[in-house]
Amino acid sequence: MSENVNPGRVYLVGAGPGDPELLTLRAARLLMAARIVVHDGLVDPSILAMAHRDARLISVAKRRAYHSVPQDEICALLVREALAGHDVVRLKGGDPFVFGRGGEEAEACRAAGVPVEIVPGISAANAAGAAAAIPLTHRDHASIVSFVAGQCKGLSEQDWTGLAGVGRTLVIYMGVKTAPQIAEKLMADGLSPAMPVAVIENAARPDMRVLRGSLAGLPAMVEDEKVRSPALIVIGEVTRGRADAPLAALATGMAS
Ligand code: SAH
Repeated sequence: MSENVNPGRVYLVGAGPGDPELLTLRAARLLMAARIVVHDGLVDPSILAMAHRDARLISVAKRRAYHSVPQDEICALLVREALAGHDVVRLKGGDPFVFGRGGEEAEACRAAGVPVEIVPGISAANAAGAAAAIPLTHRDHASIVSFVAGQCKGLSEQDWTGLAGVGRTLVIYMGVKTAPQIAEKLMADGLSPAMPVAVIENAARPDMRVLRGSLAGLPAMVEDEKVRSPALIVIGEVTRGRADAPLAALATGMAS
């Protein structure tokens, strides 16, 4: 790096669940101005289409048999471009600091002396709750909400005791493949097999699906309905589809 070059800035930007309307104004402005945009696979093409026409779009997404770009290479790419004097917009699905590995990228930039700004985004849990009319908290039904990763190192050893149950909502990211182990783990912790659950696939996108059932029926529902990523599993009373409840009616209206 030439000593005369001032490093550029890295913006870790949350792109929300996929609908461009759900970008923050700051995210939209940065995206429209950026000349380098590094994005992952969850970022919708309609959002990438908002980038400046001269922008270089660099994908670090997973594609079929190919593995995604390893995290250390992504960090190195951000640092390299910034040290060459370029501002970089690093676009991530949802919020960069909710299961987005934004923490690692921010640390790598700071360690290299590159200034970083974090721009929050609407995380899948918030987007899915709104789009499916499932309030994550509710005065009568839930005063605790937890976000967990359903696919992570040592899932079976993790202690999830108390995360789900009466008065609480559990939101599981990346849980489609491990739905059977998740249901088993929670029931082994004493959760009722009849506890209501919802699966929200492609939340806040035109092809959104909202499926409802019970904890015991979760694995079969995911398999029979061929649920695909990205999808969230929400467990708790708030997901109960009551015919008389105004919120359930709202969700039905939105789906039609
Ligand atoms: N940083 C992201 C999460 C990345 S982890 C955020 O804050 O939303 C990827 C997981 O997020 C997916 O496996 C899925 O569980 C969830 N997800 C992301 N976008 C989603 C969407 N539009 N609908 C449902 N789930 C979504």
